[in-house]
Amino acid sequence: MDFKDKLRHVMDFPKEGIDFIDITTVLQDSEAFRECMDTFKTLAEKMGDFDIIVGSESRGFIFGAPLAYHMNKGFVPVRKKGKLPYKTVREEYDLEYGTDVLEMHSDAIKPGQRVLIVDDLLATGGTTQANIRLVEQLGGEVAGVIFFIELMSLNGRDKLKGYKVDSIVKF
Ligand code: IMP
Repeated sequence: MDFKDKLRHVMDFPKEGIDFIDITTVLQDSEAFRECMDTFKTLAEKMGDFDIIVGSESRGFIFGAPLAYHMNKGFVPVRKKGKLPYKTVREEYDLEYGTDVLEMHSDAIKPGQRVLIVDDLLATGGTTQANIRLVEQLGGEVAGVIFFIELMSLNGRDKLKGYKVDSIVKF
């Protein structure tokens, strides 16, 4: 299946000049969503052994949690600051204007656990770098990172050197 035919481009969202790739048109199509999750599984199997999957708020949940279920693994949610109820570790990351903070429960990953990070889209790589730092703060080892979509022109992979990175659809 060519997922490019199923993804919707919304011009000037969330602001003028942005060509926003909307994944909801894939999610609402049962065949496309199933094939997307099956492809995630195939790519995940190529990353070698891992113990647990990390996905960040909010679209990382949409792909990360079903993949964890599909592969019989646990799932760890990364959230924006102040949302998680228990003790957390945190990492700041850059937004286009300013910074934000991502958090993970401090007991979510055990030292030495191998972690697969899943997200909807790789743009500049800043979000993924913060996810990697959270995993490593807790002593986890990043087994790999998989995206549904990769925006090649933004060179996000340059920020992820030294890690195994794969994606399903490349623009
Ligand atoms: P990065 O930190 O610059 O790599 O941005 C990645 C994050 O921005 C992802 O988690 C996406 O959810 C979000 N994002 C950026 N551009 C798009 C887009 O065109 N469609 C959907 N999400 C996007």
